[in-house]
Parts: sequence; structure tokens; C-alpha cells
Amino acid sequence: MDIHEYQAKEILAKFGVPIPKGGLAYSPEQAAYRAREIGGSVWVVKAQVHTGGRGKAGGVKVCKTENEVEEAADRMLGRKLVTHQTGPAGKMVGRLYVEGGVNIAKELYLGFVLDRSEQRVMVIASTEGGMEIEEVAAATPEKIVRMPVEPAVGMQAFQAREIAFALGIPANAVTEASQLILRAYRAFRDKDGTMLEINPLVLTHEGHLVALDAKMSFDDNALFRHADISELRDKSQEDPRETQAADRGLSYVGLEGDVGCIVNGAGLAMATMDMILLAGGAPANFLDIGGGATPERVAKAFRLVTQDGNVKCVLVNIFAGINRCDWVAQGVVKAVEMTNLKLPLVVRLAGTNVELGQQILRESGINVITADTLAEAAEKSVAAAKSVAAKAAA
Ligand code: GDP
Ligand code: MN
Repeated sequence: MDIHEYQAKEILAKFGVPIPKGGLAYSPEQAAYRAREIGGSVWVVKAQVHTGGRGKAGGVKVCKTENEVEEAADRMLGRKLVTHQTGPAGKMVGRLYVEGGVNIAKELYLGFVLDRSEQRVMVIASTEGGMEIEEVAAATPEKIVRMPVEPAVGMQAFQAREIAFALGIPANAVTEASQLILRAYRAFRDKDGTMLEINPLVLTHEGHLVALDAKMSFDDNALFRHADISELRDKSQEDPRETQAADRGLSYVGLEGDVGCIVNGAGLAMATMDMILLAGGAPANFLDIGGGATPERVAKAFRLVTQDGNVKCVLVNIFAGINRCDWVAQGVVKAVEMTNLKLPLVVRLAGTNVELGQQILRESGINVITADTLAEAAEKSVAAAKSVAAKAAA
């Protein structure tokens, strides 16, 4: 789960990481009021959307008067912000964060990620803050420091100091910097983060360090023990189809093609996608129904998948290991009746009780195209989607 910048900053502040003074605003008037409340003569109006690259896309505006704050807020609120990360659809700006300006001497990068292959938390730091870390990694990889944290002991003070030195922090600010790094690590660890990015971490002209931007993601499987984090979820920033699926215990991925895919397991989803592409088509989406394929679950999956207007054919590709093909087949038959499916349906079953499953499909009387192999299923669904598209065009 992702959260907003202001929420990540609130968490960091609770762990003792310095952040600029700021306040949330839902309207231009409120933004101007926040600026007055914060005081000073420079403010930054920042769109709160779950994406990076807001600066380049017009989602971060440095303002010199309250009037400018109000105008910037007016321009951002209620619009979609399109960044290189959001895709052309963009993300709706429903709230703003207004901050006091900071005297930036140097922009640095500090990040924490869960490195799954190393099975460690990895601290990532760079003197090249402010720009995307991916760009730094591509252009000047030598400017990125990576330091694994030993899980048995957690991050050590000497490691934080080493990072502070690598960041070129002046001697009189090294203690402050290593404290900040340790506190950020604790926030990440205690809240079960999968990613925490402070970009930029700023060294001010006054010689202090401030987290100027913060992005944080959390392990969904650990949310049950962090009610305070679960509350921060902003569904307006998520793909509504993915949210609906998640609320029903299913996982959904929206794509751009026209074959709706119902599968079990992420690996099978990837393989299905590859085979559809190979057959000259493209998947519209994936719905992972997981382990249990009860008729109700399959019916829900049918409804979610066919909600996408681009879908011209539904492909059910299930490998029954724990599951049984005859149950899945019964589920499919009932689901077709319950949802009154009009689109062509291709079903490929494999695994336990596959013959029985196929027999149930054959004898059910529902309109179904069966396939024995994944390749055959992909070819048949692409062909069916193409014929539906051709009919619609004619
Ligand atoms: P992002 O583009 O979504 O990563 O948004 P950031 O919060 O990182 O802001 C982008 C850039 O805006 C930063 O790298 C800074 O250069 C600039 N910026 C943000 N806040 C301030 C501020 O208080 N003062 C000044 N001068 N620049 C700021
Ligand atoms: Mn940033």
C-alpha cells in the first residue's frame, strides 16, 4: 500500500526525522490560510498524489505570496496530474500540502528498500538527490551507495555514519545526519515498510538536514498489525478495478488489450500474458482468483473482468493443484449462468481431475471453447477476440 507524501512525513516526524512546517489543504482558500499559519515568505504547494515526478509535471510550485499560493492551489486541485509514472490517465489531485520554503544548499538521496533477492533491507544513498534515482543509476551508477542491513542486529550507528560520510555531509552535521538516517530506518522497520524514499534529503544553508520529500509503501500482508497505517489508504489514488477486486479478496491487474484473463497464481498470469502476446493478441486484464474457485468467486471474477469495456473474450486458465478441475468447471458453468456472459469464453484446465472437469464443461450446454494446452487457449482467445472486434466494426 502506498501513502501520500504528507502522511509519510507525519510518520517520519513521529520517529524524530526533521521535516519542514506544513499543513494540508482541500481548497485554495485553505491553502492560503495554511501559508499564513506557517509564516515566512516562501511556500511550496505540493499536489498529494501517489506518484513521483510531480515537480516536472507541475505538481510542485514554489510561491512568494499568499496570492500565488492560492492561485497554484486553484490550478492543481480537482485536476489530474500526469507524470511519467502515472501513465496518460494521470491521478486526481484531491488534496494539497503547503510547506514553508527551505533554503536548499544541497539535495541528497536517501532510500530504504526491501531487497528480496538479498533478503535484506538495503539502504541506498546518493549525493545526486532531487532527480529520479533510476536516472542516476543509469547515468552515474558510481554515485549510488548501497548498504545491506543485517536483519539479526538491525542498522548500526557506524553504518549510518558511513552513509553520512558517503553523502559528503560536513563534519559538524554528521551526528545530526546519522541520527536522521537511523530514525528513518526505524520508521521503515517498525511500520513494515517495503520502500521509503527521501528525495531530496536537503542540507540547508544553515547546515541542517530536512526531509523535503517522502514516499513510503507498506507490506500489505503486515497491515493487519498497523491499524494506523491501514487508515491512511486513499482509494481515489488506486485503480478502481484493482480496489474492487482487492475488497473481494481477489487481485486484479488492468492492462490495455482485449482478452480478459481469469487465472490462479501470478506465475500462471505471466505465462498466460506471454502466450497471448505470442499469439498476436494482448490481455485486457488479469484476475487472480487464488486457491479457491467456488462458483461465487468465479462469478465475481467474471463480473470484474467483463466490466472492462475493452474485453472481447474471456479466457479462464486454471491449474488445479490444491484445487480440482471438476470444481472449477462447476464454478465456471454456474458463473456463466449467474452473470449471463455474452462474450466468447475459452477455458483451459489442467491438473487434478482434468478429464472430469472437461466432461462437466462439455455436458453443461454452456457456450464454451475448450483448449488442452496454454498455447491453444491463447490462440483460440485471440482469434475469438478478433472475430468479436470484426463483427463490432461491421
Ligand atoms: P517529486 O517531483 O514528486 O519528487 O516532488 P519533490 O517534493 O521531490 O519536489 C521536487 C523538487 O521541488 C525538489 O527536488 C526541489 O528542488 C523542489 N522543492 C521542493 N520543496 C522546495 C522548497 O521548499 N524550496 C525550494 N527552493 N525548492 C523546493
Ligand atoms: Mn521527490
